[in-house]
Amino acid sequence: MSTRASLDAVVIGSGPNGLAAAIVIARAGFSVRVYEAQPTLGGGMRSAELTRPGFVHDVASTVHALVLMSPFLKTLPLSDFGLEFAQPPAPFAHPLDDGSAVVVERSVEETARALDGSDGRAYRKLVEPFVESSERLMESLLGPFSLRHPIRMAKFGRFAARSASGLARHAFESERTRAMFAGVAAHSMVALEKLATSGYALGLIIAAHAVGWPVARGGSQQATNALAAYFRSLGGEIVTGAPIESLDALPKSRVVLCDVTPRQLLRIAGDRLGGLYRWRLSRFRYGPGVFKMDWALRSPVPWKAADCSRAGTIHIGGSLGEIAESERAVSAGRASQKPYVLVVQATRFDPSRAPQGMHTLWAYCHVPNGSTVDMRDRIEAQIERFAPGFRDCIIERSLMMPADLERSNANLVGGDIAGGAADLAQLYARPIATLHPYRTSIDGVFLCSSSTPPGVGVHGMCGFHAAQDALQYLAR
Ligand SMILES: Cc1cc2nc3c(=O)[nH]c(=O)nc-3n(C[C@H](O)[C@H](O)[C@H](O)COP(=O)(O)OP(=O)(O)OC[C@H]3O[C@@H](n4cnc5c(N)ncnc54)[C@H](O)[C@@H]3O)c2cc1C
Repeated sequence: MSTRASLDAVVIGSGPNGLAAAIVIARAGFSVRVYEAQPTLGGGMRSAELTRPGFVHDVASTVHALVLMSPFLKTLPLSDFGLEFAQPPAPFAHPLDDGSAVVVERSVEETARALDGSDGRAYRKLVEPFVESSERLMESLLGPFSLRHPIRMAKFGRFAARSASGLARHAFESERTRAMFAGVAAHSMVALEKLATSGYALGLIIAAHAVGWPVARGGSQQATNALAAYFRSLGGEIVTGAPIESLDALPKSRVVLCDVTPRQLLRIAGDRLGGLYRWRLSRFRYGPGVFKMDWALRSPVPWKAADCSRAGTIHIGGSLGEIAESERAVSAGRASQKPYVLVVQATRFDPSRAPQGMHTLWAYCHVPNGSTVDMRDRIEAQIERFAPGFRDCIIERSLMMPADLERSNANLVGGDIAGGAADLAQLYARPIATLHPYRTSIDGVFLCSSSTPPGVGVHGMCGFHAAQDALQYLAR
């Protein structure tokens, strides 16, 4: 690695947004160095043998629909740097107590055909127009708040702005379809009665049909490794095991991009931030945390509904009413007795992650921020409810409470995986309400994490947009 004392840009943090920002700036011909606190790169896009040797688990993100939808990441030559995706035939399934499951297939038509009564028609009417224009829609959704494409955004906003429970009850007559909609809306970590929770469900359903919900072959770390290798091919430098405690500790550079959340920025930048900006950042709200589990399994999960074995992601939680109750409890600061659980069975489609014939399983449930409640039995009971015999398949399990997650990545404050609450008030107005969310009050210092628009997910767009601001600064 070069030891040059002065650089054009320094990036603090090597999550997908940090690496995206670093790539944009390096590609423009500037010198860039990334400092990562942890010994391994990737932040929310890492893999590790969490249970036993030979079992590769994704420590955080595992489903990469947003990589394929991202207006920036999808343009990068990541396959040249080893990234391959494994596509489950069905993006997600929602098992029910009667032993059946609602399955969202790649095709809108096939999905609609299997829905009850008039719900098939309603589903097509709701989803199809947006799937057809998904590329342009994602350009708008994955940017900072703007008035571009006003007609398309108004059409989308008419549904997206509604509460998920309200839209599900209005649009669908069957409890089964409503449950499926609740299961995908609950990714938001916001109570389903809140405005704009339908937007999460619609965005994810559109992605399921447009690009699928794939996993990275060999684990999410492969996606990070590809980004890092591409960055290095552009002349970029990376230093790991280097937590930055203060901006003053950095080498001289013209710009600094911080892939950190407001709480860390307040600490790292200290008094260099202006008083008003500090005050506004200190009011930034974090959302619920998650309790994460991974398993090494001797055989695949024995789902009662055979259709679940074709899906990458399984939403566990039963009816709309039950899922809404579980998410309401978390919003009210209580750990749910019957949690909504997100499950991903990557080895069904990517056997390279486990010894031959064996499997991994990834799951989490939402808990109040910083919760210390052990959710293992409640999570396993929920899976067992739809897959009797599941516990007999377990060889080993790994648990990560919110504090463990935060130790593994300082951005996961209290276990919040979204870089801050993503309710209507903080959906785009993050970290503060401004036309320039990536700029801080310090000249040349930018925020580029998921605490800026468009927020949570592996799309790299927070980094991409922050880097545009930084490039403008460098061009001065
Ligand atoms: C359990 C879990 C499951 C998820 N599942 C999905 C999913 O399936 N699909 C999806 O799209 N998204 C998912 N996400 C969300 C996704 O991981 C994040 O939205 C994304 O990683 C945010 O990227 P980022 O670059 O903003 O921050 P991060 O990925 O959090 O990276 C921040 C990096 O900065 C480093 N850092 C922080 N402070 C410092 C410092 N002071 N000095 C040096 N380095 C520092 C951290 O160590 C970390 O590497 C999940 C997240 C979690 C935790």
